[in-house]
Amino acid sequence: MSFNLTIIGSGSGAPLPGRFTSAQVLNVHERFVLIDCGEGTQINLRRFGINFNRIELILISHLHGDHYLGLPGLLNTFHLLGRKKELHIAGHRKLKELIDFIFNMAGFAPSYPIHFHIIEDIAIDSQLLFPAFSVIFFPLRHRIIATGFRISELPNKRKMNREFIFKYQPSVDAIKLIQAGNDFLAPNGQVVSQDEIFLKPSPPRSFAYVSDTVYSREIVSYIQGVDLLYHEATYAALLQASAIDKMHSTSVDAAKIALEAEVKKLAIGHFSSRYKDTDLLLREAQALFPQTIACFDGLKIEI
Ligand SMILES: [Zn+2]
Repeated sequence: MSFNLTIIGSGSGAPLPGRFTSAQVLNVHERFVLIDCGEGTQINLRRFGINFNRIELILISHLHGDHYLGLPGLLNTFHLLGRKKELHIAGHRKLKELIDFIFNMAGFAPSYPIHFHIIEDIAIDSQLLFPAFSVIFFPLRHRIIATGFRISELPNKRKMNREFIFKYQPSVDAIKLIQAGNDFLAPNGQVVSQDEIFLKPSPPRSFAYVSDTVYSREIVSYIQGVDLLYHEATYAALLQASAIDKMHSTSVDAAKIALEAEVKKLAIGHFSSRYKDTDLLLREAQALFPQTIACFDGLKIEI
């Protein structure tokens, strides 16, 4: 079952040729979640072969332009493509006001239903449930209200062991009893337990998105043990003072959080445009947390 992340934009501030601003697509079993939507996101979605119609949910972390200015255009393009499928958007209250305003100004009604989930109305730690995954929301520490997301696969269904089926060829009635939680009584009188009948399901995979924030240990409990953490690293360690001043993180801050949260892998991004290449930031983070990768537009990460 697919569970992977494609980086659509890995920069901060303004879009540059080759490095657009924040956007990523998480593929959960071929259901797509677009996370942030910087200017020009739809261009890179096409470049990287993302099927627009698969996008079921859009999460917007906060209302700085490099995280959402691509959204009105993308919603308009969905309409031009004749989308009928419903779209969920989770964002802050002012984002809904902004979208309503833009639609009203043009007397525009999209061809598809939009369900808007206002983040301020969702209790911290409560889940938003979708057919293949759940989302929890947690506060970041930034200059304006900003929210992080943790997206997890729903617990996998247990699968019956093929060897059991082959060996005992249980009847339909016997299978119903097994599925109701009973052990199986074989014709020779042997009892086969549920643990022997079913394969152990693989643990649900999870991804956390942290952008933008100053170094904050308060987020650790929300992202503990995720398979992949995306954490912003706007600056290299030398610019720690600027990071604190602008309420952003350095590459070292991101690595410290990854260590404390005992995540399996870290991806850093939201790079300042001053860094033409990101080797320095990657090296700084890897010195503390070796399982770090540096994002670039078009990077696909299997989780
Ligand atoms: Zn920001």
